[in-house]
Amino acid sequence: MAESQSGELLSTKWQEAPNRGAAILSHLGEHVPLIYCLEAEPQQREEEQKVEEHLLFPLECFLFGEDPHVGLEKLQQCDSSSLSQQCGRVFKEGETVYSCRDCAIDPTCVLCMECFQKSVHKSHRYKMHASAGGGFCDCGDLEAWKTGPCCSQHDSGTSVAMETDECTLDSALEERAQTLFRVLLRYTVDMLVWKETDELQEELKPKVKEDKYFCVLYNDEHHSYDHVIYTLQRAIRCDQNEAQTYTALIDREGRRAVKRGTLRSCQQAKDSIRSNSEQLTQQPLRVEILNTAVMAHQTFSLRLGTWFQKIIGYSVGLRQVFCQVALDPCFDGSKLSLISRVMLHDAGLYKGARKVIHELIFSSLLMDTEYKRQFAMKFTEHYQQLQEDFISDDHQRNISVTALSVQIFTVPTLARQLIEEGNVIKVIIDTVMEMMREHLDSNGRFHFQGYNSDKFFRVQVIFHDLRYILISKPSVWTEELRVKFLEGFHVFLCFLRCMQGMEEVKRQVGQHVEVEPEWEAGFTLQMQLRHILAMFQDWCSSDERVLLLAFQECYQVLMSCTNQPFRSEPTDSYMCKQILHARQYKVSQEPVSIHLPISRLLAGLYVLLCQNGAVRYLPDFVDPARLNYIELAEQPLHCIVLAAQVCADMWRRNGLSLVSQVYYYQDVKCRDEMFDKDVIMLQIAASKMDPNHFLMLILLRFELFEMFNGNCSSKDQEVLKQWNRLTEEMLYLIIIIVGERYVPGISDVSKEDVTMREVIHLLCIEPMAHSSLVKSLPENESNETGLESVISKVSTFKKPGVSGHGLYGLKNEWLKEFNPFFYHYSRPQHSKAEEAQKKRRTQEGSDKALRPPVPPPFCPAFSSIVRLLCCDVFIHVLRRVLQKAVEDRSNRWTEPMIQRALHLVAQALLEEKTQLQGSNPEDVTFDFSLKAQKIGSEHGKSLFHFLSKMKSLPSLEAQKDMITWNLQMFEVVKCLREKSGPVVSFPIHQSKSEELFISEQSVHDKEKVERRRKAEAAKAHRQKIMAQMSAMQKNFIESNKMLYDNVPESSSQSETTATVESRMDVDDSRVAVGPQQGVCCTDWEALTCILCQEEQEVQAQAPAMVLTACVQRSTVLTQCRGKTLSVKDQYYPIFMPPDLAVGTHTGSCGHVMHATCWQKYFEAVQNTTRNRLHAELLIDLENGEYMCPLCKSLCNTVIPLIPVEARHLDYDSAELVGQHLTLSRWIQILISRIRGLKPAREADNNSEQGADQASALSVEEQADFRSILSFGVQEPPKFCRSITEMLMVCATTVHRVGLQMAPNDLCPYVPVMSWNTCAYTIQAIENMLQEEGKALFGALQNRQLAGLKAVVQFSAAQRLKSSHAVVQQHFADMLAVLLPVPNVEDTPSILEVDFFHLLVGLVLSIPVLYQEEAVDLQPSAISTAYNHLHILHLVTMGHMLQVLLTTHDCAVIGGPEEGDEAQAAAALYSLVSQHTDGLRSGVSGFTVAETVKRGIFPFLRCATLFFSCLTGVPPPEELSIVAESPEGQLPFICSYLALPCNLFQLFQDHRDVITPLMKRWCENTAISKALKSEMHIIRYPRKRNRLIDLPEDYSVLLNQASHFKCPNSSDDERKHPTLCLLCGVMLCAQSPCCQVQLNGEDVGACTAHAATCGAGVGMFLRVRECEIVLMASRTRGSPYPAPYLDDYGETDPQLGRGNPLHLSPERYRKLLNMWQQHCILEEIARSLEVLNVMFAFEWQML
Ligand SMILES: [Zn+2]
Ligand SMILES: [Zn+2]
Ligand SMILES: [Zn+2]
Ligand SMILES: [Zn+2]
Ligand SMILES: [Zn+2]
Ligand SMILES: [Zn+2]
Ligand SMILES: [Zn+2]
Repeated sequence: MAESQSGELLSTKWQEAPNRGAAILSHLGEHVPLIYCLEAEPQQREEEQKVEEHLLFPLECFLFGEDPHVGLEKLQQCDSSSLSQQCGRVFKEGETVYSCRDCAIDPTCVLCMECFQKSVHKSHRYKMHASAGGGFCDCGDLEAWKTGPCCSQHDSGTSVAMETDECTLDSALEERAQTLFRVLLRYTVDMLVWKETDELQEELKPKVKEDKYFCVLYNDEHHSYDHVIYTLQRAIRCDQNEAQTYTALIDREGRRAVKRGTLRSCQQAKDSIRSNSEQLTQQPLRVEILNTAVMAHQTFSLRLGTWFQKIIGYSVGLRQVFCQVALDPCFDGSKLSLISRVMLHDAGLYKGARKVIHELIFSSLLMDTEYKRQFAMKFTEHYQQLQEDFISDDHQRNISVTALSVQIFTVPTLARQLIEEGNVIKVIIDTVMEMMREHLDSNGRFHFQGYNSDKFFRVQVIFHDLRYILISKPSVWTEELRVKFLEGFHVFLCFLRCMQGMEEVKRQVGQHVEVEPEWEAGFTLQMQLRHILAMFQDWCSSDERVLLLAFQECYQVLMSCTNQPFRSEPTDSYMCKQILHARQYKVSQEPVSIHLPISRLLAGLYVLLCQNGAVRYLPDFVDPARLNYIELAEQPLHCIVLAAQVCADMWRRNGLSLVSQVYYYQDVKCRDEMFDKDVIMLQIAASKMDPNHFLMLILLRFELFEMFNGNCSSKDQEVLKQWNRLTEEMLYLIIIIVGERYVPGISDVSKEDVTMREVIHLLCIEPMAHSSLVKSLPENESNETGLESVISKVSTFKKPGVSGHGLYGLKNEWLKEFNPFFYHYSRPQHSKAEEAQKKRRTQEGSDKALRPPVPPPFCPAFSSIVRLLCCDVFIHVLRRVLQKAVEDRSNRWTEPMIQRALHLVAQALLEEKTQLQGSNPEDVTFDFSLKAQKIGSEHGKSLFHFLSKMKSLPSLEAQKDMITWNLQMFEVVKCLREKSGPVVSFPIHQSKSEELFISEQSVHDKEKVERRRKAEAAKAHRQKIMAQMSAMQKNFIESNKMLYDNVPESSSQSETTATVESRMDVDDSRVAVGPQQGVCCTDWEALTCILCQEEQEVQAQAPAMVLTACVQRSTVLTQCRGKTLSVKDQYYPIFMPPDLAVGTHTGSCGHVMHATCWQKYFEAVQNTTRNRLHAELLIDLENGEYMCPLCKSLCNTVIPLIPVEARHLDYDSAELVGQHLTLSRWIQILISRIRGLKPAREADNNSEQGADQASALSVEEQADFRSILSFGVQEPPKFCRSITEMLMVCATTVHRVGLQMAPNDLCPYVPVMSWNTCAYTIQAIENMLQEEGKALFGALQNRQLAGLKAVVQFSAAQRLKSSHAVVQQHFADMLAVLLPVPNVEDTPSILEVDFFHLLVGLVLSIPVLYQEEAVDLQPSAISTAYNHLHILHLVTMGHMLQVLLTTHDCAVIGGPEEGDEAQAAAALYSLVSQHTDGLRSGVSGFTVAETVKRGIFPFLRCATLFFSCLTGVPPPEELSIVAESPEGQLPFICSYLALPCNLFQLFQDHRDVITPLMKRWCENTAISKALKSEMHIIRYPRKRNRLIDLPEDYSVLLNQASHFKCPNSSDDERKHPTLCLLCGVMLCAQSPCCQVQLNGEDVGACTAHAATCGAGVGMFLRVRECEIVLMASRTRGSPYPAPYLDDYGETDPQLGRGNPLHLSPERYRKLLNMWQQHCILEEIARSLEVLNVMFAFEWQML
């Protein structure tokens, strides 16, 4: 209370002061230094509190004249409607912004994510991209959007957002606001631009000046992070961490005090920093020493910046007062407004200060139409100065005040005002001109040799501003606009004059150029100008008068260019009785330039004049007598000839730079304002000149005139080759001039027609993806190609599969538009298209003549161009060309030449036909066909003659169809001509005969086609076989892969079916467990080694065969994702916890080798890959990794193939044994055996003593101890050495990988890990089959099945290689879960183990109980059968109880109460209830039965897979069929496993045994804890893990990511939010803030997360990049396309295209499968192999 009073007291004091401003200032002068900069480290929280209290609060009191809370409430009550209706959100770098392609006025109009989601554009064609930072949301700006300018949040319903409300402020408040803002804004600006380091202005001077200083370090772009850190560590003796923090802050804020102290100590620090940094780079770091008071005021002035933002956000009235103050000329001497001052100092400010100022401008001046206009005027006024500052500024553009241009220049009304009132076009171009003046040479043309690319880049930015200004063309022209526009146009032309003819090249003869000339700058300029040129033309075309004046201006400037080629005297040239009076000029000898922007602009303007008819007034503007079109066309023609000569290899010695220039000249990025315009200029000239003269000029410039005149010949091969190439190019040019009419104004076509034609021609090459089409089409100034509007008309879309992308294919009806000489085809495109179309025509059975399409008629102004096609010189040229071919003078002609000539003939004939059809033949003067037949006919050398002769020329076989077609056309034209003849009946007859002729011809052709096709098919077949042969020879392994893949698979399949059938007859016992066990089917057939190709059977004594395998840790089945597992955790690895937290998976690609072959291969691989640079990326040699020699899968071990022991049960004796070996007897025997073994175990340590103790057993005990042996024993199988060796190799790998330990083959857990991986791999496969809804058997791929069998057999055989005592101990430990085993302690309760792992462990270890000291023994087949049976029954019962106890609180299912099953279940339930006190009462037997059955089903399925692989007994066929409900399969599974169909029966059958056991199980304290929910329990069936759900619309994800906050830092730097697809957590990737230590190494957040979440394997989605990252181990990863597609069926990595994206469920499913099948590792290795990366990406930093 006291404070607020003092605030109000202060404000009253100020109010009453004579000079209120001075009073406020003196308060600041006194208090600011008392708050800020008191210590070396800013105490931000304390400072902020004091500032609020002592400074800001009194100021607010002053503003409102009362308690600010009260005042604010009043204010908001009276103008609640005037709250801002514009969003104005300022974008951070990397933030996703949206633009609407349908509604945005231009592509710079964008929405923030929040506004976009609430706007109508969400359902339009939108684009998204990442902001470069700066700029703000245009929501609410009526001028930015055609429709839907406001989102629902910013739409007040009135939609008058930009209208300036009359200020409704109370006049006293307004007056106070003015006073206050004026003082404070001036103070802020003064302090920010303050140059004195030690003194303050008079009003602020403190009473006592403190002698404390800061040494302040500034950010610059010359020094790297490391430089600054290094310097700081040395100069001010801080530690690494401190230096890093300082450096990060300096980079972010722009400056930072690094030392506080006396002037002297600061001076020392400054000198030290400067000298230290100078040593590193030539430039020292910028350091200043500031008095603490100065520093304090500067800090406070920035604080005021944010305070202003808050205050003016309260009401429009306050904002307007603020704008007024900012724009008013200062009341002191200078005329500059405050805003101007701060703008002009922008480049001198540091980063943090700029950001505050720019945001203040955004939220004030730019939010209001009128003030925006005033600000824009000021901005324009200072434009040149600002740009100059920017160019020498070393900060990026997004933190320069010049970046504001996009906010004002793109507003159409504002742009117009700026042109009219500020002459902004001229201002901008003058600025550019000023900046580029240094590049001018003595001729006044640009010359960029040795330019500074950074500075040049900054200059280019100015062109963006010009583009913004011109972006929307005016609908109404005022006289003022005309004048100012033309003024701007004039300076623009002056700028272009500096480009016209710049960077001339001269052909180099003899020597190669020494230095490749710089060319990039010129073309960068050209690309920048491309849209500007188009927009200027567009503006001109909208007003007839402007267009005419612009043409006049352009013509005059062109004429004033200094390098016009009018130097030499004209001479006369003669050809075909024609005389051309032209100047001599040779492109190959004189300088020539590619840059002719004025000529091209003139051509563009001329076409526009023709298009809107204004051309008729042209004589009033340009004197027709002086308008010489030959001269206008000269330079463009030179440029085209240059390109042709470069093609003809004549400019080889001028180097690559010229080749690149010619490439860009015709490339889609430049051609519309370069090559295309040159063609237009030639068309203009052709329309104005005599056709013979025009062609003679072309011949002259191509330097072919003398050759075609027959006046020169050469024997030089090189020269002949050049002539041939030039002739080809010259003919091609004529084809283009006559045929290319798809330009509005040249013919009557629309822009859409033009795009359509481009698309048709692209699709004639091949079906294309949307993105490739977009890339090949020219973009307009709004980055649109117009593709959408035509694509559906001309093509059909083919959807993509789970990989690849969608493709567009051309509709057949458009094929007739195909022109093989389409002028935008590049050379490779031309030949590809030609080939594709010929192939298609052959397939269709039509001829291969690629005839020209019928072009649209020329507009009247250009119609005379067609005369070229029938002039004498044209006929002459064609005759010469064809003659050479007919006379077959090799070296004098080429096939492409003939092809072009034939195309020209066809064009001429088509023209003639069109003209004849269109009018009375007598009026048609176009007489190509007549001339072609007449000229030269006296010697049999007419064009027509040559054509007929060529038909039979063998060397022109490929052109035959085209020749034939041309000859037919002659007939057609002839008929059309004669139709008008006097005899009426004749032409009809004639035309009939013509038809006949054609049809005959076509029959003939069809036969020919058929014949040819057969011949070609035969040839292709032969080639294919040859190719196969050579491939087989070339790569032995590869070829045998084919054999392997095909043969064994099919044979094994047929074999299994065969055996199944035969067995059906003999024995249908499909039981795998117990005395009814069926016979196992023959196991491994003979296998072929993929390396040596030799066959071998798998036998115990034969050399080992091994299977490739990959062992990896897995969390695919985990029930507690992310749980960190300590190695010592609980009972692991003996007991797998029921949550299956981390398992060990062993997979295989199913390829078999000899063990010896593999060893040799592995050694060889190790030796060779060591030498490869990036080998360690692909495979981890130290850990035994290698690639499968056949399929390149990643492997890290091999599994030896162990033959299954064929067992034949004697069912009679089995039954006999069964009578004695009941479950209770079996348990008894087992226990006494274990009890007896115990001393034997100790014997390992001390044999003597052990032997004594063993013998000390009583005779009775002895008998009992050995009674286990009496039920049948046999000798265990003996394996040869190589098999046992491989057993060890595999087992140690499993152990090492599974427990993440150093390899140790003596570790007692080696056998345990083998059993574990066996159990886990089966569970993973069962899970996958369930997920995919597939049957248990028959659905597995061969490789999976082979791998599974091998793993099971390997695990079973593992005990043979392990210490018997150890395995016996393991068995005892495991058994203790179920039975009371003597001397075993710390056994987990039945709730704490996974029963399937237990089952596998018990079954695989029990044989070791039969081991006698001296002899190797194992149970006989019958004993084994009973062991399996009893273990399975016990484990199943244990698991059933586990399920029951963990689902005790499940929902009650209603159902029938009767039935044996329900009764048995009810009995069990009540029994269990007796032993526990947590079970709910009143649960029906049916509920219990259903719950338990559902719960143990996965276990039974796993057990079925396990026993089928272990025993080889084929399962019932019903299990190979997909069941409708899982319950349907239960009976078959039970019968296979020798379990009663009613599982609860087990408890009744074994009542005597199980009752005490159950009591024991239930007594465990863990059970009561679980029942009281005090312990985390796992429910059954376990939940199946999937990848997280992803939203259908990708922008939802982007939205989520935009709200992402890094947990470890609060700065607003750009982050890389990355989503874990396994658990859904969002991580901060690639950022030092979230790095952690993992095993002593710094790793990124993703790597650290993957270590726990996926046991090292990770699958992440990088949200902003829209890309999946697969990770495995710390050093390996690979990118993978995200499962999101746009409407064109394409993915969008990096969001480069920005189209809306939608989830593709199939692709996401594929990712899920990849994960579930443990193929991530494999995929990474494969993609790395493909990418063949030569540098290491630091995956661990992700
Ligand atoms: Zn917004
Ligand atoms: Zn909005
Ligand atoms: Zn829209
Ligand atoms: Zn081999
Ligand atoms: Zn393989
Ligand atoms: Zn995760
Ligand atoms: Zn972070």
